[in-house]
Amino acid sequence: MKYVVKGKHKGNHYVRKKVNRRKVFITLVACIALLIFVICMINKQNEPVAQVYNVEQNVIIVDKSGENDTQQENSNDTKNQNNAQNNEQSNSEQNSGQTNQQSTEGNQQSTGQSNPPQDVVIPNNFSALTTDELQRFDKIYSHSDPKRVFLTFDDGPTTQVTPYILDLLKSENIKATFFVLGNRVDANPALVKREFEEGHYIANHGYTHSYSSIYQNSNTVIDEYNRTNQSIRNAIGKQDYNSLVFRFPGGSVGGTYDSLKKATKQILRERGIATVDWNALSGDSEGVKTIDGLYNRFVQTASSYTSVVVLMHDAADKILTYETLPRIIEYCRNNGYEFKTMYDLLLRN
Ligand SMILES: [Zn+2]
Repeated sequence: MKYVVKGKHKGNHYVRKKVNRRKVFITLVACIALLIFVICMINKQNEPVAQVYNVEQNVIIVDKSGENDTQQENSNDTKNQNNAQNNEQSNSEQNSGQTNQQSTEGNQQSTGQSNPPQDVVIPNNFSALTTDELQRFDKIYSHSDPKRVFLTFDDGPTTQVTPYILDLLKSENIKATFFVLGNRVDANPALVKREFEEGHYIANHGYTHSYSSIYQNSNTVIDEYNRTNQSIRNAIGKQDYNSLVFRFPGGSVGGTYDSLKKATKQILRERGIATVDWNALSGDSEGVKTIDGLYNRFVQTASSYTSVVVLMHDAADKILTYETLPRIIEYCRNNGYEFKTMYDLLLRN
């Protein structure tokens, strides 16, 4: 019985099938077209972001270390490199707030200079460091002829100290490297802009300087690098900027977080970001409280090297660093050191 009924409708079946196939075909083509359109739109939206965040995208990582070091805010991370006792200040200075600086001239944030000075060549791109460039950073403490010195200032910018240092560097026609903190960049963007426009290198010191925040794992370090990078971009109005050079709060070697730092350093390197410590310091985070003391500490740690990376700070309570700087500069000049910044280690333009 079934068989007969089926046979009767055979012709209709055929027609319906034909119609259905056409409908299916048209629907399929429409779907594919829609899909292509959607993909195109998504790509178009993502394009500029992909370019702008080139380095960051590479930096996004999976935490392999699984480390969750106990938090010790004031741990004295020491590193023994070159016998310098490299105690960098913890975040206590960060919250030290406003010390009342009597001078008013320091409050001039941007002196109106809007173009980089002629003697500084800003790279034409800030893409990840190449292997050759990373190797130049590896050799930053190696013998150099002529002698060279990298003046570096951490934990700024602050209105209490940074403008004074910038004024001095400008009058001496010296360029330096500022390892800025993201939260202070956000608070004082005009100062970062000024640093950049006056030819200084803006390097990255993380966002919070709080060990319990930044040293939870490798991801939190990278995240602070990225946040600070974005703060710098916003401050200088240059969305393709990448700081490319990172300094671990407390230095990269020793202390509670040594193994975490070591693992993170390698991850950064694989993504074309160099980490830089120091081989000399003024002791401005060691409790040295006089200009003579700071100067002597600098000479003591720097004098035996032909390539000197000197750690100083432009945090709010470091006005003595500014006051000691003329003597440090004079020492460097009298002893044949050339002043360099991280720009001088890049191979581009
Ligand atoms: Zn610091």
